[in-house]
Amino acid sequence: MKQRPSFPARLDATLAKTRPNPHGAMATGPAPVAKPALKTVSSPAPAKAALPPVARAKAPSPLPQVPQGHGMDSQAVRQRMVQKLAGQGVTDRLVLGAMGAIERHRFVDSALVNQAYEDTSLPIGLGQTISKPGVVSRMIELLRNGATGRLGRVLEIGTGCGYQAAVLSLVADEVYSIERLRGLHEKARENLRHLRLANVHLLFGDGMAGYAKGAPYAAIIAAAGGEAVPQAWVDQLAVGGRLVAPVVTSGPGGGQALLVLDKTPQGVRQTLLEAVHFVPLKSGVA
Ligand code: SAH
Repeated sequence: MKQRPSFPARLDATLAKTRPNPHGAMATGPAPVAKPALKTVSSPAPAKAALPPVARAKAPSPLPQVPQGHGMDSQAVRQRMVQKLAGQGVTDRLVLGAMGAIERHRFVDSALVNQAYEDTSLPIGLGQTISKPGVVSRMIELLRNGATGRLGRVLEIGTGCGYQAAVLSLVADEVYSIERLRGLHEKARENLRHLRLANVHLLFGDGMAGYAKGAPYAAIIAAAGGEAVPQAWVDQLAVGGRLVAPVVTSGPGGGQALLVLDKTPQGVRQTLLEAVHFVPLKSGVA
């Protein structure tokens, strides 16, 4: 059983408040930034006026100790990460709020917890990696294409440890996420359990075929790079929808770049952006 860092405490309660509107209405409220960890701890009833000050001083501390896992307060560290992301040019309020709310340290091995809020990809087992926060936020911002409210239904190819699916769950109404490696599919299920995200659907299968039952999707995001975008993804994208995926741009084992594909009534428009480095998109399951 993996040792979890024990810092705070109250994400379940926080996230319960930031769940999507089940009716799919556009959320216009404030971004789902995590509330202070102690918010739900109510203050003790005021001490009786007659109580002498000395007696009050002896009363038990009204606030529980906030556990400081690995010597850091994860909320403060996450907020610093969010500030860095904003400094790198991410402006989407919902994306920044979601990056600040989801505890990335819960998705990595205990030995890597101290690096969880650095802008680095980290191993998650079976030769796969959790993407850098900078790349996750950049891709989701592109995916949202300036939307002010939540996206509708989103398909993610490559669940991995489930981190990006959790972030997506705060900026979209429904998230379908497919993973081809059973071990990671199960790991994601375990990692996401504590969040009780009713709008995340984890699927085990080959994401090359997309997931037709959930189509059409307002957005599709891939966390693994192939030679080309499978036709099934384009078919399952709604008209007006956007797909963001890494694609191989040169030769075998060559570089990858981010591809943004917009499906318009006139057809498909593709834009290649900056170089990226993702694990390969593979077919079949294992
Ligand atoms: N979004 C993930 C990133 C995981 S890395 C996270 O937050 O952790 C990309 C994942 O894509 C790997 O787990 C890999 O197994 C998976 N993958 C690669 N090809 C796939 C395919 N055809 N279908 C589904 N998943 C695939």
